[in-house]
Amino acid sequence: MNESVAVLGLGTMGAGMAANLLKARFSLAVYNRTKDKARDLIGSGARFASTPSEAVGDASIVISMLADDAASREVWMGRDGALASVKEGAILIESSTVSPAWIVEFAEAAIQKGAKLLDAPVTGSRIQAETGQLSFLIGGDQATLEAATPALKAMSKEIIHLGPVGSGAKMKLINNFLCGVQIASLAEALVWIERSGLDVAKALAILKVGAPGSPLLNAISARMTAHDYSVNFLLRLMAKDLLYAEDEASHSNVYLKTAEAARSLFEIAAAEGFADKDMSSVIEPLRNK
Ligand code: NAP
Repeated sequence: MNESVAVLGLGTMGAGMAANLLKARFSLAVYNRTKDKARDLIGSGARFASTPSEAVGDASIVISMLADDAASREVWMGRDGALASVKEGAILIESSTVSPAWIVEFAEAAIQKGAKLLDAPVTGSRIQAETGQLSFLIGGDQATLEAATPALKAMSKEIIHLGPVGSGAKMKLINNFLCGVQIASLAEALVWIERSGLDVAKALAILKVGAPGSPLLNAISARMTAHDYSVNFLLRLMAKDLLYAEDEASHSNVYLKTAEAARSLFEIAAAEGFADKDMSSVIEPLRNK
C-alpha cells in the first residue's frame, strides 16, 4: 500500500480522480458534502470522512476538487475545515479552478500550518478524470512537486510545472477564457446555420476541418446538434471561470470584453434553467429566441 492521500470533493471530476488513486493503491480517505456520491468509492475501499477535518488527519497528500473559491474556502477553512487538521509537512493540492488571489491567500495559511500548497488545476474533463488522462497545470516549488508526483501521475497523462504558487491557476483561467468564448460563439454560429437554410452537417464539416476547427469545436458541436446535455462540464462553472478570468486579467490591465460577452450568454442560460446541465446547453436560449 502506498502513502495516505485524502480527496475532498467527489463531483464530476473528483470522483474519477479518487478512483484512480485507489487503483494505484494509495490508502484513500474521501470527503464530500453529499455523501451519496462517495458510495462507489467506499465500496472500492476508500474511507469516508463525515467532515473535511476528519478526512485529512493521516494524509501526507490532500487533494481538493471543489466548485469554486467559496467551496474551497468552506472546505479548507470553514467549520470542521481541513486545514486545521492537516499534519505538519503535508502537501495540499488545490485542483479546483479557483482564482489566483484565493490561491495566494490559501498558500499563506498553509505555510502557517507547516504545510505546502501546490495549485494544480486540470485540463481534460469527466472522461479524462475517469481514465487517468488529465493534464495538471502546476504552481509551486519543485521539491513539493517531486514529492507529489506519484499521486499526480496516478490521475494524469501530463504534469506541467509553470512556476511559483498561483501559476497553475493563472494558466487555467487563460485556457478556460479561450474555451468559454469559443463555445459561446459556436452556439451563435450554430443557431445562425440552423436558421440560414444551409445543410447543418455540411456546414459543420467545413468548420471542423477549416481554420476555426478545434477539438473543442468538434466535441461541443456534436453535443449541441444531438441536444446531449448530460454533464461533462457544468454550465454554471464556465460562467464562474469567465468571471475569474475577467478579474484576473484586469490586474494586468487587460479587459476581457469577449469573456464578458460570452459570460452573459452562460448567465442567461443559467437563469433559464441550464445551470446544472452541460455547458454545451448554452445554445438553447438562443434557439428559443
Ligand atoms: P461538480 O461536479 O459541481 O463538483 C463540485 C464539488 O464541489 C462537489 O464535490 C460539491 O459537493 C463541492 N461543493 C460545492 N460547493 C460546496 C460547498 N459550499 N461546500 C462543500 N462542498 C462544496 O464540479 P466538477 O466538474 O467536479 O469540477 C470541480 C472543479 O474542477 C471546478 O472548479 C471546475 O471548474 C473544475 N474543472 C471541471 C472540469 C470538468 O470538465 N467538469 C474540467 C476541468 C476543471 P456536492 O457533491 O455536495 O455538491
